[in-house]
Amino acid sequence: MFIAEAEALHGREDSGTGELSRHRTLALFTESIVSLMSGTTFPAAMIDLLSLMGQTFPQAGPAVYITMTGSQSQAYSVLDGAGGGFAEARRILGNHSFSYTPVKVGGHPPLLMDRLDLPLMETAGARVVLSINSGIHDNIFSEWVKILTPAVGKLINHEILLHLAYRDGLTGLLNYRAFEEMIRAELDRAKRYATTFSVMMADIDWFKKINDGFGHQIGDLVLKALADRLNRCVRKSDRVFRYGGEEFAVLLPHTVIGKARNLAERLRCMIEKTEFVAGLHITLSIGISEYRNGLSHSDLIKQADKGLYLAKERGRNRVEVLKGGS
Ligand code: GH3
Ligand code: MG
Ligand code: MG
Repeated sequence: MFIAEAEALHGREDSGTGELSRHRTLALFTESIVSLMSGTTFPAAMIDLLSLMGQTFPQAGPAVYITMTGSQSQAYSVLDGAGGGFAEARRILGNHSFSYTPVKVGGHPPLLMDRLDLPLMETAGARVVLSINSGIHDNIFSEWVKILTPAVGKLINHEILLHLAYRDGLTGLLNYRAFEEMIRAELDRAKRYATTFSVMMADIDWFKKINDGFGHQIGDLVLKALADRLNRCVRKSDRVFRYGGEEFAVLLPHTVIGKARNLAERLRCMIEKTEFVAGLHITLSIGISEYRNGLSHSDLIKQADKGLYLAKERGRNRVEVLKGGS
C-alpha cells in the first residue's frame, strides 16, 4: 500500500511508469536500511540517512533529533543552523545542551516550513524523532519511518550499550576502560605515523575535605561541573576521561610536552578561579608525560602519575613534568 501512496506524492517520479516508480521507491527505502545496518558508526549512519533523504527530497529539510539518558542530546540536520536549524533542534530537544551536526546535501539549504515530527523510537531511555517540512512528502516519509524504525532501534540500543560500557555514570565522561583502549590506539598511531601525543593526569586536591565539609552530594556536583569544564576547555580532538574517583586523565593527540604543559597550566588556573558552588573552590594537581619511542602505554601512565605525585609533594595546585622520563 505504501508504495502507491509514495508514488502519488513523489513529484519527481511523474515521468516514470508505475513500475519504474515502484522500483525506485523500493530501492530508496532499501538503500536507507542497508546504509543504516552496514556497520558504520552511529553518527555516520545518521549522516548517510539524512543526506539520502535530503538529496531525494530537496525541499523536505529532514533532521533527526536524539535524546538518550546520561548523554548529551544530538541533532543531525540538513537545515542551516543559523537559518533556523538550531531553533528547530531546540524545539524538540528543549534547552539542554546538544551537539549539532550539519549534513551537507549540495545546493541551497531548504527553507524551514511547518514541521511534521515522526517518532523513530520512543522508550524510557531514548527518544529519536525525524522531523521534515510538512505538506509535501508527509505520506512517503510516514511510510519510510515505519521501515526505518526497527533498524534505528537496533542502532540506538547498540549505542546505549556502548555508552554504558565506556562512559562514567556520574559525569558522562569516558571511563577507565575507554582510556585503556584509547591510549593503546593512540600509541599505535604514534608509532605508525612517527608522531607524538601527551597524557595528562589531574587529581583534585584535598577532595576528601569537600565531601566532609559540604557532603557527598555536593562532592558529586563538583565532579560533574569539573568534568564539564575540562571537556569545554580542551580541543575537539582531545579526550577527557574519569580515571577513577576524583582523578581525571586527558589524552592529547599530536601534542608535544611543552604544549601539554601550557594547556595543563591553563586548566589549573581556570579551575582555581572557578566557584563551583557558593564559596566553594577547588584546585588541581597535574602530571604530564609525552610519548617517545620505546615507551609502553603503562610507562606513559606511570610517568604522568609520578608527575602528579610530585605536584602533590611540592604543595599541590601545580603542574609537574618528570625530566628524563625516570
Ligand atoms: P589529595 O590532595 O592528596 O588528593 O587529597 P584528597 O582528599 O583529594 O585524596 P584522597 O585520596 O584522600 O580522597 C579522595 C576522596 O575522593 C575520597 C573519596 O570519598 C572521594 N571520592 C571519590 N569518588 C567520589 C565520588 O564519586 N563522589 C564523591 N562525592 N566523592 C568521591
Ligand atoms: Mg585528590
Ligand atoms: Mg586521588
